[in-house]
Amino acid sequence: MTEPRYSPPDASRAPRYTGIRTFARLPHVRDPEGVDVAVVGVPFDTATSFRAGARFGPEAIRAGSMLLRPWHPALEVDVFAAQSAVDWGDIEVTPGNAAKTMDQIAAGVRELLDAGITPIVLGGDHSIALGELRAHALAAGDPVALVLLDAHADTWEQYYGERIFHGTPFKRAVEEGVLDARRSLLAGMRGPLYAAADLDQPRELGFDVIAGDELRALAPAEFAARVHERVGHGPAVLGFDIDVLDPAFAPGTGTPEVAGLLPHEALALLRALAGMRFRGFDVVEVSPPYDGPGQGTAMLAANIAFEFLALNAITRLA
Ligand code: MN
Ligand code: MN
Repeated sequence: MTEPRYSPPDASRAPRYTGIRTFARLPHVRDPEGVDVAVVGVPFDTATSFRAGARFGPEAIRAGSMLLRPWHPALEVDVFAAQSAVDWGDIEVTPGNAAKTMDQIAAGVRELLDAGITPIVLGGDHSIALGELRAHALAAGDPVALVLLDAHADTWEQYYGERIFHGTPFKRAVEEGVLDARRSLLAGMRGPLYAAADLDQPRELGFDVIAGDELRALAPAEFAARVHERVGHGPAVLGFDIDVLDPAFAPGTGTPEVAGLLPHEALALLRALAGMRFRGFDVVEVSPPYDGPGQGTAMLAANIAFEFLALNAITRLA
């Protein structure tokens, strides 16, 4: 294997806390030449309904990523030898204007996809997924499938009259024809609902929904089999809302729900998807002002992004 053009500096030469803070100490690069995968921030949070602060998610996740190392023991892959990886920096956003921001995100992600680069997006509140899905559908020439881990389905029609909101992206994306609900799977939904029929709504849109209790009863391989069957071979993206994790481990988030996944459970579900090709990834809803001492939420999010890098590395080596 040839040396990738971009990778983190040798950690034996200087401690990992040295240098400018980028994701996993990767070089900050804005030239698409020679880049396979780019971590990119979307610091937008004015589509939140409860706790704001996810605009500072990318910065905190980068800080939480500084101790990442190249070798992934469980998947047996060197994530930085297998692909040329950079920190692209942040996509420009417009606080208070979700519609304009979705256009900015779609254009920013499209730039990467058109250059053949796999984006790993650091949010930002979950509304940003709409901009990402627009870019993916345009680049793929087809609506894409979504595999989502989240405490919420985010398929509401509107919140307070706002149609582009962090509880609505997947309803909008289906309406716009950029997301194929029939090939998509939403998993991890839990917590009190407004009404008994709340989870019927995403199912009526065509999504497969695995509620939190059912998800925890599945072995990771059973989850993966259901994902494979659902998604098939068409274009697909993988999303991770940090609130799918228990708030004891991930308190720094916008809309926490009790009794969530434990970190090792979530990692096992992601690792079970090894071998599936995803066109892009995101980890969203990290709100650093609500994080605990030690910034564990941001560190978890950084490690979720590391799992994405590993999944992408494995498909590149296949
Ligand atoms: Mn969400
Ligand atoms: Mn959520």
